[in-house]
Amino acid sequence: MTLTSGNYQLLIGGELRDAAQGGTFVVNDPATESLVAEVARAGVADLEAAALAARTAFDQGPWPRLAPFARGRILQAIADGIRGRFDELAELETRCGGKILANSRNEVDASARVFEYYAGAADKFFGNTIPMGADVLDFTLREPIGVVAQITPWNFPLLAASWKTAPALACGCSLILKPASHTPVTSLILGQIALAAGVPAGVLNVLPGPGGELGNTIARHPMVNKIAFTGETRTGAELVKQSADDIKRVSLELGGKSPNIVFSDADLDKAATAAVFGAFGNAGQSCSARTRLFVERGVLEEFTERLVTATELFRVGDPMADDTNMGPLISSSSWRTVKDYVDGAVAEGANVLCGGDRPVNLAQGHYFSPTILANATNDMQAAREEIFGPVVVVIPFDDEAHAIAMANDNEYGLNASVWSRDGGKAIRVARALQCGMVSVNSHGSASRYGLFAPFGGHKKSGLGRELSMRALELYTEEKNIFIDHSD
Ligand code: NDP
Repeated sequence: MTLTSGNYQLLIGGELRDAAQGGTFVVNDPATESLVAEVARAGVADLEAAALAARTAFDQGPWPRLAPFARGRILQAIADGIRGRFDELAELETRCGGKILANSRNEVDASARVFEYYAGAADKFFGNTIPMGADVLDFTLREPIGVVAQITPWNFPLLAASWKTAPALACGCSLILKPASHTPVTSLILGQIALAAGVPAGVLNVLPGPGGELGNTIARHPMVNKIAFTGETRTGAELVKQSADDIKRVSLELGGKSPNIVFSDADLDKAATAAVFGAFGNAGQSCSARTRLFVERGVLEEFTERLVTATELFRVGDPMADDTNMGPLISSSSWRTVKDYVDGAVAEGANVLCGGDRPVNLAQGHYFSPTILANATNDMQAAREEIFGPVVVVIPFDDEAHAIAMANDNEYGLNASVWSRDGGKAIRVARALQCGMVSVNSHGSASRYGLFAPFGGHKKSGLGRELSMRALELYTEEKNIFIDHSD
């Protein structure tokens, strides 16, 4: 199927609407730079309308009062609705975000699976009974937190929206979903699918619009109980500050600069291939990207050769083509940022082993070649900051303690990978790393395989855990009830 460009409206109170001020913005394909969609541009008046719709739905509507299994059935219908529009969603994800079609298809499938998971979880999130003695009964309830503003990024648009909306809906919350301006379309379609599946009007409002303009109003809005955000660490910190006066609940999935530690006893072929996917998958635009590659000094040369060979096989090009491994970056400004980091690293003494610029055969689109920076140190800017592009720095280490010290010497702490055939060493290192998720002999996190493991980071990588049953904690308040039933 090939889509022509389309027009998309806001979803507020169960209705598709133009923006109150009539504004729109365009979404362009990062590969061709051509128009994909024109989208209503929400302003503060639309945010007010969405907040009122969400508040009313929560305070007076049936959704939070519905039996959890009945909410679960509707979540299952959303999963079916996503599968029913599978090809359209996958193609839009590629055309708006530039990710390769195979990844878009995986992500649409994973989005449906998130709804299936929380469809089954809705009636399995229990409180506790706390033993206190013969004359008293003490138990806890998990009650929906209320109105939640969910702000999502452009790198995994539908998947991030699903990670956030599915558990919140399962708990009975009402939502204002603000998708990233680069990629609002699949979230708008998700809103329509949810409505058709039986989610009552006002429970899921979808509001594309400029985060910089809407952010403070969202964070300070008296009708919003909680903010769930994925994006840049500075934006997350600003949301925390803006919402602090109200002590709003906040959960954050932020940046990463994840280490990938390769010991000399690892399967070097496997580790080199995985390092390429770990660093350059989704064009490196992933908070989980393994962008600091620590290699034990004795195998540095041997490993680096394999890494370069595997990188040269990684095909950059049209994200709609079957044989492409990597598409363009999201925007020209993102391209410029990546280029500046590479040039800065060279100025600091790093060598570009491959990549470093636009691929010679791709004159149009925001393409950047997969880039390996050798002769790097852990204190170079390119090794310290999140680049969000296909750039990996290779840094040698001397022993286990040296690798751990360098891996932990960073303000982020999202993911890490450890490669070794020595199980004891791999476990020691995994336990010593200051991060939320560690993969041993794999570049992917558990979320690649299922939705059953908690996802989140230490340090400046975030607050709270998404996925798994833990995500239900993000969307509920705990209440303790104590009953004295003595005679
Ligand atoms: P942002 O944090 O700016 O954007 C993420 C989301 O937040 C978008 O929906 C955006 O809206 C919204 N937003 C922007 N400003 C505010 C604000 N002041 N208050 C509330 N919401 C806001 O990230 P960018 O898209 O600008 O990307 C910049 C960098 O952030 C990347 O290069 C990368 O390093 C990091 N990033 C990390 C991600 C992750 O998965 N952890 C995902 C995306 C980015 P809008 O699109 O309208 O600006």
